[in-house]
Amino acid sequence: MRRWLAVFLTLVVLLLSAGGCGESSYRPGFDDNTRTESQPVTTKINVQGASGLQVHFIDVGQGDAILVIAPGGSAMLVDGGESECGQTVVDYLHSRGIKKLTVLVATHPHADHIGGLTAVLNNFPVDRIYMPEIANDSEQISDLRNVIRQQGLQVQVAQAGGKLPLPGVDALFLAPDHQDHENPNDASAVIRLKYKNTSFLLTGDASEHSEDEMLDNGMNLDIDVLKVGHHGSHSSTSQEFVEAASPQYAVIMCGIGNAYGHPHWEALETLSEAGTKIYRTDLAGNIVMKSDGESIKVISGGDSHTAVAKGNNQLIDTGTTYYIGNRNSYKFHRPDCSALPSDKNRVIFKSREEAIKNKYDPCQRCLP
Ligand SMILES: [Zn+2]
Ligand SMILES: [Zn+2]
Repeated sequence: MRRWLAVFLTLVVLLLSAGGCGESSYRPGFDDNTRTESQPVTTKINVQGASGLQVHFIDVGQGDAILVIAPGGSAMLVDGGESECGQTVVDYLHSRGIKKLTVLVATHPHADHIGGLTAVLNNFPVDRIYMPEIANDSEQISDLRNVIRQQGLQVQVAQAGGKLPLPGVDALFLAPDHQDHENPNDASAVIRLKYKNTSFLLTGDASEHSEDEMLDNGMNLDIDVLKVGHHGSHSSTSQEFVEAASPQYAVIMCGIGNAYGHPHWEALETLSEAGTKIYRTDLAGNIVMKSDGESIKVISGGDSHTAVAKGNNQLIDTGTTYYIGNRNSYKFHRPDCSALPSDKNRVIFKSREEAIKNKYDPCQRCLP
């Protein structure tokens, strides 16, 4: 009986959290404008004449939505999450005082990236929209193409070497270098943002194949912040790529308890071994980074630190605290435990209390 209750509660938690754009994806205190659940979203950042570069990784659960505010206030949105996240993205942009988008980029035609862009286009004037040229006939892409047509916009092709017109920032496409990729993820528009001595790489769902192409093409990959490819899947984030990028920070955008098991262990390990500090939207909610041109300030709800193990059990800092439950045994572990369940049996808890509330027992080995 107790077990059935636990299964039920776990399902409720997963249903509430995996969607990503419901109330439950909200985590208080993610920003410098500390607020509580009952307070409305407010902003202290005046976009007009904004100083420095801001990159906002908006928590849309399992999907990407990234708002870039250039020095001076021009705004670029890269992806907009699933369709049901459209309103979340629209609200977020309003809360930041965004009146229009200078640039909109749809990295590739998958629902978790373009679904919400229809709502964005219905709510904000857009100067320029970029997409890679790849055949796709999903419902989301036809909705998006319809609204683009209604707005009288011309889609510009996202292609390696192309410059993005975002005043105050050097913004360049590093991929795709050709337009006939079989896997839409590999057609992902990859953007390098450079502001004075700081730089960001936004990779969409680019996999190792695309990473290799960028390396082969001699692209300048050396950056400070990496938006990790494909939600932390093991199909991205090769060691060679991470070595070339040598990021100080990495951001993984994925949903709590997502069905793909993202982020995968291999990607976390590769980044951790490179000494990169990892931030995750599933654990931290919205993540905001601000660059003054010399250094980057991270504003995130997941600022508590814990350790995750490399293969040899050496502890390393991931910048977040979480616990891994085993759906079969109802044990929960520290992320560095040597007896972790396989990816498909994992359930993530943000706190010890959450695990216990769901009737999971602490592992006797790692004593979480
Ligand atoms: Zn994706
Ligand atoms: Zn994709």
